[in-house]
Formats: sequence, C-alpha cells, structure tokens
Amino acid sequence: MRVIDLRSDTVTKPSKEMREFMMSAEVGDDVFGEDPTVNKLQEKVAELLGKEAALFVPSGTMGNQLCIKAHTQPWDELICDKDAHIYNYESGSIAGLSHVQVIPVNGKNGVFTAEQVEEVIRPEAYYLPKTKLVCIENTHNRGGGSIFPIDEIKRIKNIVDKYGLKFHLDGARLWNASVATGISMSEYAKYFDSVSVCLSKGLGAPVGSVIAGTKEFIKLAHRYRKAWGGGMRQAGILAAAGLFAIENNFNRLAEDHRRAKYFANEISKISRIKLDPDKVQTNIILFEVDGLTAQEVCQIVKDPSKTGSSLLLSVGKKYLVRAVTHIDVNDNDIEEAVKILKTYFN
Ligand SMILES: *Cc1c(COP(=O)(O)O)cnc(C)c1O
Repeated sequence: MRVIDLRSDTVTKPSKEMREFMMSAEVGDDVFGEDPTVNKLQEKVAELLGKEAALFVPSGTMGNQLCIKAHTQPWDELICDKDAHIYNYESGSIAGLSHVQVIPVNGKNGVFTAEQVEEVIRPEAYYLPKTKLVCIENTHNRGGGSIFPIDEIKRIKNIVDKYGLKFHLDGARLWNASVATGISMSEYAKYFDSVSVCLSKGLGAPVGSVIAGTKEFIKLAHRYRKAWGGGMRQAGILAAAGLFAIENNFNRLAEDHRRAKYFANEISKISRIKLDPDKVQTNIILFEVDGLTAQEVCQIVKDPSKTGSSLLLSVGKKYLVRAVTHIDVNDNDIEEAVKILKTYFN
C-alpha cells in the first residue's frame, strides 16, 4: 500500500548518503568539549547566523527553552504570539522550567506588529511582572508557514531596544524563510540576541537543533543544557547529519515550497475545500473542508480502501487541516495526494 505522509516535515528519514556521512564522523566526548564534529557543526551554524557562538541541542524545544531560561529570571514575563510554538507546543515549559509567564499577543498568522508589542510592555512598578523578552517565530508553524516580514522585525527590534528587552527568534524553519525570501540567515539573525534553528525539520536530519548568540550567552545556555540533562557524549554522529543536511538539503527547500504552492492551487479548485493559495508562503498548507472537522478529514483520507493509497494529514486547529511538504515527497506523491482529496471532497 502506498502511503503519502504530509503530516509534518519532521517525518523525514535520513537518506543513505546522510547515514554514510554519519557513520564516518569523527567523534569524541562532547561533555568534555572534545567531539570534533559537534564543534564543527556549532562553528558552522554560528558563522551562518553571524553569531559568536552556538550550541548543539537535542531538540528545538530544548533550544528555545534554554534561550528563554538564559534571558530571564523567575517572575519575569515574555511577549509572543498566541499561536507561538514556545507557548503552545512545549508542554508549558516557560512556566515549568523558567517560572516565567507569557503575554500572548493576537497576531495574524503568527505575525504581530511593533505597536502590539509596545502596548503590552509593563511599566515599572513593584507589583507588576517585569517584561524581559520578546519572542518571534519565523516561519510560523501554526500560522501556516508564514514569513515574518523583515521590516516588521526591524520595527520590533527598535521597541526591544527602547525598553531594554531581549529578543529571541524561534527559527525552527528559518531555513525556509531564507530560501523563500532570499534574505540570508545572518541578515535575519542579526536583530536577535538568540536564535534557535532545527536540523530535523525540512533539512531532513534525524535529530537536533542549534542555538546561537554571544559567547557569554552560549556559556550560560551550556550550563543549563547540562543541568537539564542535555549533555551528550559522542554526539558527532548526530551532528554529522546536521552538517550534511545544511550542505545538501538547505537550498532544495525551494522544491518543497514549489510543491506546496502547486498542491494548494490544485486543491483550492476542489468544491468542498476552502483555502487561499496566496497564503501559502513556504512548505505548510492549512485548509478547511466544508462541514468536517480536521480530525474527520484526516480519518477519511487515511483509509486506503477506496483509493488504494493512504494520505496522512494532521490537525492544525479544530477545522484546519495541515499538510506539509518535505524532502521525502516528490511530484508524483503530490499528484496522488491531490487525486485522493478530489475523490472524497469534490
Ligand atoms: C518543531 C518546532 C520546534 C521544536 O520542536 P522539537 O520537536 O522540540 O524539535 C520549535 N519551534 C517551531 C516553530 C517548530 O516548528
């Protein structure tokens, strides 16, 4: 049976070439700082982001939460979008690990304005929480892969500076934003005190994220990483996958974007499907099927009995179905996915 898995760009499996590269990686004990491949990856990502230093971490969640921890003190407050990954999909860790509370702002597809930030910054008073940090996400996962406009980032940076705050970028898919806009990773990163990027999304590595910032900041994050149990030993095997992914799978993200656009255009013609293909900016597609919850849609298209193929989609919100293109789906898979949706919803 044929399975087309569009649930997420996290479902990708390392290619044969990537596995071979991992197998030949030079390794050492990274808790002693002695893994040459981890060191190489950290240097490479620091350079790519134009930052002094970087740190390899097991997951995007740990990367973001380490940055939040290193920027704040308990009882502080941070500002992010109401749909932010750090707020919705990291198990409540802002509260649990950093003892920080969130002021969610009401952005549009995850994108908010400098005015919205300035409006919620607390004045100084002993009975008020301290606003410490602003976090943005680019591209925005729950916002449907939306790109945070660089001009708005600059405007928010002005507010961040005006109030002496810190600025964190959840760049799990910054790679996609960079490829889609032609704006370099370092141009995006330069407005932020810290950046996290995922190797295990569109880039197709099996595990890992990297955070970057000043030397001093990374030194503090390194300490917390160990404290939270994230110190790894011969992690060069995993870091090698990251190096391979950056080298080989970064620029090809344009293909995922092209397929997402094509898929969105085609399914927008299906009578019961509602979506605006112009909203699809990168590799994530969100759409509605008239009269059905996202859960119901996922169940219907998964069943191969009618079409001979199983299409896997995921739930974005109650009525929003989510599809994501990635390195393990080709043009033919996308055609088949369109055909399946036509069969059920035309
Ligand atoms: C995937 C993702 C993360 C991190 O997820 P992990 O599963 O912990 O690696 C963080 N932010 C965004 C926007 C993501 O999409």
